[in-house]
Amino acid sequence: MMSLTRRNFMKLVAAMGASAFLSAYKGDIVRAVEAKKDYWHICWLNGAACTGCTVSFAQASNPDLVQILTEIIVGTSGLPIALPDYMETIHPASGTLAEKLKERWKAGEKGKRILVVEGAVQKPGYCVVAGKDFREHVREAAEVADAIVAVGQCATFGGIPAANPNPTGAMGLSEFLREEGIAKPVINLPLCPVNGEHVVIILSAVIMGAKIDLDEHGRPKALFGTNMHDELCPYRPLYDRGVFIEEPGNGDGCRFKIGCKGPVAFTDCPSRRWNGKTSYCVEAGAPCIACSEPGWPDKFSPFYAELPSIPSFLGLNPTTLGAGIFGATAVGIGVHAVRRKLRGEKDEQDSY
Ligand code: SF4
Ligand code: SF4
Repeated sequence: MMSLTRRNFMKLVAAMGASAFLSAYKGDIVRAVEAKKDYWHICWLNGAACTGCTVSFAQASNPDLVQILTEIIVGTSGLPIALPDYMETIHPASGTLAEKLKERWKAGEKGKRILVVEGAVQKPGYCVVAGKDFREHVREAAEVADAIVAVGQCATFGGIPAANPNPTGAMGLSEFLREEGIAKPVINLPLCPVNGEHVVIILSAVIMGAKIDLDEHGRPKALFGTNMHDELCPYRPLYDRGVFIEEPGNGDGCRFKIGCKGPVAFTDCPSRRWNGKTSYCVEAGAPCIACSEPGWPDKFSPFYAELPSIPSFLGLNPTTLGAGIFGATAVGIGVHAVRRKLRGEKDEQDSY
């Protein structure tokens, strides 16, 4: 019986780092795996991406990857809770042997399977691995996976590979699976790169069998359900007092005038932070460029241009939003209305 309810999962994940999450729920995770008498096996595929998400995950600290693989074990078996059978950037196998590992994962000789996809899916011919189009690798793996996680902006929403003019027809995993008629839920973990803590927490939660509430874009609400400008940013009091920095750097002022898109970004970056909780974009003196959102980067470019705001923002024509948040002309709504528009008109719904 899992002791982690949906409600406390939401609360705790929002507040906890991966280390605290794992230590609090290690017993639950081990019991979940023991009850099913099954290990979880991971196949991590890389499409059109810079591999920054693998690096971000590999550099997750406290616990780091080695701790995850060696210290969080099931009972007295000595085996980790999840085995990365195939993870092409860091697994020791290469060539034919590596491909055999992938095929064995697909055959599912034992255990349950998590498919992790990093990078966008392109039109046929642009990404070929071991003589087979990446699209085929993804389709075959998705068809047999028990859970699917897309890591990083490219795998979730297309990211930089899908930016205008998108000559390779790059798209996010969910869109690709929809086109292929594969009706399986995808847990989307955007950001550029993915936050390593997000990966550790969500993989652990999947293994535990926790119910993960997703928003309309497939993102876990516990991680992406909060607007960073409204509720999380430490510079918000300065924004309210009209204290802004005028150029990038570590000055003591809100980053709005150098292009901060925090008002339209839904992410826990300010509380989760990066590199062992050292810092994050805004704290490092840069604007948030909203890499948590669908439509990035086009919809949020230019990055260092001020978000149209009241009073200049008065006059945004909602029908122009599809082309981007800049260049709007008619009268009517402000930052908060734009934010609602960017999030879409539909009500949020659970999909996993
Ligand atoms: S505009 Fe950016 S830096 Fe300023 S309060 Fe909002 S999120 Fe923080
Ligand atoms: S703070 Fe903004 S730009 Fe930086 S990682 Fe988070 S969503 Fe992306």
